[in-house]
Amino acid sequence: MAVVGVLALQGSFNEHIAALRRLGVKGVEIRKPEQLNTISSLIIPGGESTTMAKLAEYHNLFPALREFVQMGKPVWGTCAGLIFLANKAMGQKTGGQYLVGGLDCTVHRNFFGSQIQSFEAELSVPELVSKEGGPETFRGIFIRAPAILEAGPEVQVLADYLVPSSRLLSSDSSIEDKMFWIWQENAEEESKVIVAVRQGNILATAFHPELTADTRWHSYFVKMSNEIGEEASSSSLVPAQV
Ligand code: GLN
Repeated sequence: MAVVGVLALQGSFNEHIAALRRLGVKGVEIRKPEQLNTISSLIIPGGESTTMAKLAEYHNLFPALREFVQMGKPVWGTCAGLIFLANKAMGQKTGGQYLVGGLDCTVHRNFFGSQIQSFEAELSVPELVSKEGGPETFRGIFIRAPAILEAGPEVQVLADYLVPSSRLLSSDSSIEDKMFWIWQENAEEESKVIVAVRQGNILATAFHPELTADTRWHSYFVKMSNEIGEEASSSSLVPAQV
């Protein structure tokens, strides 16, 4: 049976493990750097990225997490996990924080506002539907969700979201969010942001598939991990050129 590691410092790691179980895949909780050597793929869950970063720092996990990503092992970040994987994050309320990096994206940590502005939306994800079948859309649950504002050329956009103008400069937006939108050229108009991407071994979603009964994203990640694992083992069988 395939085994997937789930970073279990904080946030929705139990829900990811339960979603994997529904697919017949074992999820193991990861809390220590040495445990990363025992798994071939990793999910970084949603939660609160500053808290998660503090805990990861306390457990000395950053070097091992960076190495895991740089070695090309499959990693999926959801929400705070997406923030962790981005090369650049903006919108921090409490100053800088450590990121694992690897994903050539700039994220806004709290793009969609605070807890009260959390929402659900049907997303069109052609890549997911072509690989996993099922309904034409995926119901994204966005909780204090981040968004990707810029993505590099290597990044494959899997889903975007057209932000309704009603969400822009709303009276309950925080000062920080208002400043962000004022800074945007098109602040008064509808604006599209990226909410799901893949860059080689990295998958990232701004929403929470582990909170739905729809296991297509988990299945997609498990298949992606198997493919990457097969490629790695077949390339290590190629005889060295002499
Ligand atoms: N915006 C949150 C953060 O900064 C992430 C929210 C989530 O993971 N649900 O960490």
